[in-house]
Amino acid sequence: MTGRPIITDTQNTWCPGCGNFSIQFTLKNILTELEQEGRSLDDVVLVSGIGCHAKIADYLNINSFYSLHGRTIPAATGIKLANPRLTVICCSGDGDSYAEGLDHLIFAAKRNIDITVIVHNNRVYGLTTGQYTPTSPLGFKGKSTPAGTLEYPFNPLELMLASGATYVARGYTRKMDQLKGLIRGGIAHRGFSFIDTLQICATFFPAADYYTPRVYDLTGHDRSSFEDACLKAREWDYSSDAPIGLGVLYQKKFPTFDERMARKEMSREDRERAILELLAARA
Ligand code: SF4
Repeated sequence: MTGRPIITDTQNTWCPGCGNFSIQFTLKNILTELEQEGRSLDDVVLVSGIGCHAKIADYLNINSFYSLHGRTIPAATGIKLANPRLTVICCSGDGDSYAEGLDHLIFAAKRNIDITVIVHNNRVYGLTTGQYTPTSPLGFKGKSTPAGTLEYPFNPLELMLASGATYVARGYTRKMDQLKGLIRGGIAHRGFSFIDTLQICATFFPAADYYTPRVYDLTGHDRSSFEDACLKAREWDYSSDAPIGLGVLYQKKFPTFDERMARKEMSREDRERAILELLAARA
């Protein structure tokens, strides 16, 4: 189907000023461009998890799968392996992929499965009204930490570099043009693409006054250098007042999990022979 409205008429319940709108409209613009370039949107699947971000599956008019909390990536992996022709975009939250689903995130990067993961990193559990997440800054005062969290946040970019992700980027919902380029780059990349997106939560973590003066464009950064990517990832620790680089930190070509799997694909005859041999061995 072509030319359909990409934004659905489902009532939108995000708070006014929520950064999820920026991601939704960035994806809408990308999907419009893909369609104009001759790509069928029937070949695109959006997977979301649980959290405020996940409602994007209701608000974008493409094939979508609303998964369980923390299980966006296994669902996206299954979809990609079942039909490698599909473009699979995973929208996940920091609670969804940095807490509940962290092991899935790490193993998807390790496998280099060809999916694009956009983490709506608002650094707070918004849907459940303001508890701290793994990327909340030290001292964050929320519903579960009224005196301020005592934990340092972890750095998802460092984690993804160490886990083997082949496209690692950071965007910001107040820089929509740049974010569009980062997501398009991730979709075009063959392999596991990870875009940590600093997303404003207007209600529980309205951090624009903190981010906006600190962000800068990583123009001129050598994305092919793993060492330089690590240095850039460590520049800001998600808690300090250091500058925050936005752009692609790292990209490399590497065989994907789905390519390796396709190479191992057996003919029907070979599969039947293998099953008979297995049954004979167990008899
Ligand atoms: Fe957006 Fe925060 Fe409201 Fe959730 S609680 S819809 S993340 S502003």
